[in-house]
Amino acid sequence: MKNALSALALSCAALSANAQTFEACVAGLKQTAGAQGVSASTLDLAFKGIEPDETVLKAFDFQPEFRTPIWDYLAGLVDDERVADGQAKLKEWSKTLAEAEQKYGVDRHTIVAVWGVESNFGRIQGTRELVRSLVTLVCANKRQAFFKGELWATLKIAQSGDIPLQNLVGSWAGAFGQTQFMPTTYQRIAVDFDGDGKRDIVNSVPDALGSTANFLKLAGWVSGANWGYEVQLPKGYAGPSGRTTRQPLAQFTKSGIKPIRPDQAVPSETTQAALLLPAGPTGPAFIVFRNFDAIYSYNAAESYALSIAHLADRLRGGGRFSTPWPTDDPGTSRAERREVQQLLVARGYDIGEIDGMIGTKSRLAISEFQTSIGVKADGRAGQRVLQALRAAKPK
Ligand code: CA
Repeated sequence: MKNALSALALSCAALSANAQTFEACVAGLKQTAGAQGVSASTLDLAFKGIEPDETVLKAFDFQPEFRTPIWDYLAGLVDDERVADGQAKLKEWSKTLAEAEQKYGVDRHTIVAVWGVESNFGRIQGTRELVRSLVTLVCANKRQAFFKGELWATLKIAQSGDIPLQNLVGSWAGAFGQTQFMPTTYQRIAVDFDGDGKRDIVNSVPDALGSTANFLKLAGWVSGANWGYEVQLPKGYAGPSGRTTRQPLAQFTKSGIKPIRPDQAVPSETTQAALLLPAGPTGPAFIVFRNFDAIYSYNAAESYALSIAHLADRLRGGGRFSTPWPTDDPGTSRAERREVQQLLVARGYDIGEIDGMIGTKSRLAISEFQTSIGVKADGRAGQRVLQALRAAKPK
């Protein structure tokens, strides 16, 4: 008992010491920001009653043990729903998109695909206050120099009047708006594309679309060129692969690699190309060009770039990949994920909100269900789990 009490006293002391440290840290940040030209009124508003956000630190420290297979990742990002939504947006914003194509030379389908994947066409932008998240990260010593830079940028955006402080909300790491730019990216790249004098990627669709086009242009987009295409590998191909192993297209052609679609537009044989094998040599294979790298620079993951590239193709009327992913349990669309969640609820499992996003609660429920039917519990919302849930009796 005595030990427990002194432990309690100790943890209280540690807590108040932390609180003091946080306050001191905030005071220091205020001072530095002031010295950098952020006005006292902006600082007072931004830091008023600020408290650390523990959920941001949890998100920073979270290392997902569940690694999403690429076929799950793509099945959720490039589903019929997003293709239909994207086609509606192409119509709705055709004038703006034509202007963006004209000014930046970036194809409209790619711009809309980025919009669809980054924020589900502006619907999901994140809800955390940027200043609070960034101050939490800086004061907890997490990548301090990086997040400090993002904090200064956030304060300057608020001060400029382009986007008011209360609209500067986003992901735990500071990405915000319909384009999910980091604040420093916003400062370098965002444009006022509706001509109202403000660069508002939160509430203005034209500003968001123009800013995305500007990003891709600055990332080296080659106007009129395609990102790449699906290819057929010759049997037993053992030559070079990987996005950064580039060689003239002619080298790949010589190895017997050819487009799956016979009517595929193919650039000059001297074009620098790379062979992408996202799931190894037995899955879909792609020849990719400079524009694939431009998309990659938006978010440095090959699966991300492939999802944008593929969604752009689907938006312009292209089909699904020809080669199946090397799995006997393919991924599910968001509509199917919602069905998985609905069926779990109907069968007595608690999954939280039915939103088509398979988070921790959904994965736990799926694992329990898998155990109950005697299959390996991996928590994945694949086609097999969906079929098994459809066949299972409601509670
Ligand atoms: Ca504007």
